[in-house]
Parts: sequence; structure tokens; C-alpha cells
Amino acid sequence: MKTLNINEGAFIEEIPLLQVEHLEKSFGEHKVLMDVDFKTYKGDVVCIIGSSGSGKSTLLRCMNMLERPSGGCIYHKGQSINGKPSQVAQYRAKVGMVFQQFNLFNNLTVLENCMLGPKRVLKKSRQEAKDLSIKYLDKVGMLPYINAKPHQLSGGQKQRVAIARALAMEPEILLFDEPTSALDPEMVGEVLDVMRKLANEGLTMIIVTHEMAFARDVSSRTVFMDKGIIVEDESPRILFTEPKNERTKEFLSRFLIA
Ligand code: ADP
Ligand code: MG
Repeated sequence: MKTLNINEGAFIEEIPLLQVEHLEKSFGEHKVLMDVDFKTYKGDVVCIIGSSGSGKSTLLRCMNMLERPSGGCIYHKGQSINGKPSQVAQYRAKVGMVFQQFNLFNNLTVLENCMLGPKRVLKKSRQEAKDLSIKYLDKVGMLPYINAKPHQLSGGQKQRVAIARALAMEPEILLFDEPTSALDPEMVGEVLDVMRKLANEGLTMIIVTHEMAFARDVSSRTVFMDKGIIVEDESPRILFTEPKNERTKEFLSRFLIA
């Protein structure tokens, strides 16, 4: 439980921005997520680590309803969102997602890629959508490339555009699924730098990553997943130095963390 001190000595419970409760997901007979409980509060930066196939992407995809959970509940600011399609659409507009493979539209320019969501989903005018896009392209250092097409950009630049595109929707929470896994090593740093800056500005983020040093240094909480369950959900200081669970220890022993 997280509490807010509203007055000297008087505490109220803070409502999580996003909460999943007893979340389950199966593909046919294959149970991929089992009884997952998870809370994120405003300003949290949560890193999710774990082996390939442990269910990290499925958990993120359920969190933004790209994937329909087989059981359990998702709450946005205390309100269940297992309801009507219009409610799901409203919720999804508040939860941004950045993918490993960028998912940019190759036939559109950088600027057009960013303007699409604000225009189509948020019903912004052309000018408003352009202003928002420029603001966030500037934030990720991609303003000089607004008229470029994705094929003219490096992987790191594409991912920074994808982050700007997600930010242009002004989401309450931004989910990242291995944002640096498809990049050449020399481009990982520029993307992590942008993410670090967003974290410092207070953006709420949930990040699936194999960048252990980033998770240790930037996250407010680190979650270790294995075989469809959350094994450990801890401050990075504890998780990386004195993990409580044997499975966490074994997983971390495979990484040399600088
Ligand atoms: P991670 O992101 O941790 O590598 P995933 O969430 O992608 O793990 O996958 C967890 C398990 O769910 C894997 O065994 C994977 O094959 C399975 N899975 C994921 N998506 C689907 C799908 N759409 N259909 C069937 N099985 C899936
Ligand atoms: Mg994955």
C-alpha cells in the first residue's frame, strides 16, 4: 500500500494509476500468465526483467488491452476497464506503447507518423497535432528529421521517433517492450538517454528490458518474471544486490552488470 500524507498525521491510500489483479492469460491450453498482481503509481518507473518466454510481452499487451486477459481485472485509477469497447478505447488512448520493432508507418514522414494518433484518436486539429508532434520530436532530438521517411533513419533514430509518437498522445503511462533489443549496440545509448530523461521528468513508465544497468539505475521498482508469474517486485537496490528468490539470483548471475 502506498499512502499520501495529506495533512500532518493524516494519511489516505493513494490510488494506483494502473493495477492488475489476479491477471491470467492463456493461449489455448498454454497458460502464459498466472495470477499476476501488479500496481503502478504516478511517477513510477518499473522495469520488468526475465528470460525470454516468461510472459513479459504478454503482460504488457494485456495491460494496454492489445491482448484480452483470460481472467482477472485491470484497473485504471481504481476503475475496472473490463467493460465496453468505448471504455477500452478511451483507456488505450491514455496508455502508450513503444515496441521493439518501432512499428512506424514507412510511407509517412516522421512528422506525419507523430501527427496520426493526435488527429485520429484525440481528434486534434491539424495545427494542434503538428504542435504536439514538434514539441515531442524536439524532446527526443529528432526535430531536424521531421520530413524524413523512416527508411532514411538509423535504428536509434527510428526508436526515438516512435517514442515521440507515443508522447504526442500525452499518455498517462508509457509501456516499453524491449525498446533497445533490435538496435545495433552503438545506438542503445541514445535511446536509453531519452528514456532516462523522461524518467527524470516524472513520466510513469513500465519498461521490459534486458538492460540491467539501466534497470538498476533508473527504475523505482524492478520486477522479475519467470514462467508466467511475478517472482520478485522490489526496489532495484535490493533486487540487484540481495535478491530474495533463488530464481532471481540464478537469472541475474547470467549478466555482467557494469
Ligand atoms: P517474453 O516477452 O517474456 O519473451 P511472451 O509474453 O512473448 O514472453 O511469451 C510468453 C509465452 O506465450 C511464450 O511461450 C509464447 O510462445 C506464448 N505466446 C505469446 N503470444 C502468443 C500468441 N499470440 N499465441 C500463442 N502463444 C503465444
Ligand atoms: Mg517479449
